[in-house]
Amino acid sequence: MAGEPQDDCLFCKIVAGQIPATVVRETDTTVAFRDINPQAPTHILVIPKVHYRNAAELAAEAPQAAADVLAETQAVADEEKLESYRIVFNTGSGAGQTVWHAHAHVLGGRGLQWPPG
Ligand code: IMP
Repeated sequence: MAGEPQDDCLFCKIVAGQIPATVVRETDTTVAFRDINPQAPTHILVIPKVHYRNAAELAAEAPQAAADVLAETQAVADEEKLESYRIVFNTGSGAGQTVWHAHAHVLGGRGLQWPPG
């Protein structure tokens, strides 16, 4: 059921501490940890503790958690002292989503091209 931890979800397991992650911040509703395959000098994922498949479902069904994730991207950028950075929510496989638990990528520490690929 959406919002509940899913047994087969990698990020639910990180929330539960069942899989190790390099956690940089945690709040009552969110966890931020370093991406295992970084695409920039700073590449941190911010996830809600509740399970929703993507940012669209999260925003529709748990708007406060969505707002908490967004606020945490700012906190991560401040902690990492990023002057410029990009927040990405890949939504759907055609956009590159591979993990089906909503997450924001915070990317920074190098120049970023626009438009993205
Ligand atoms: P997506 O492609 O937007 O779904 O992003 C999923 C991200 O999760 C990718 O950037 C992966 O490198 C990252 N990732 C997958 N497994 C782990 C892990 O165990 N720890 C940290 N990051 C992970």
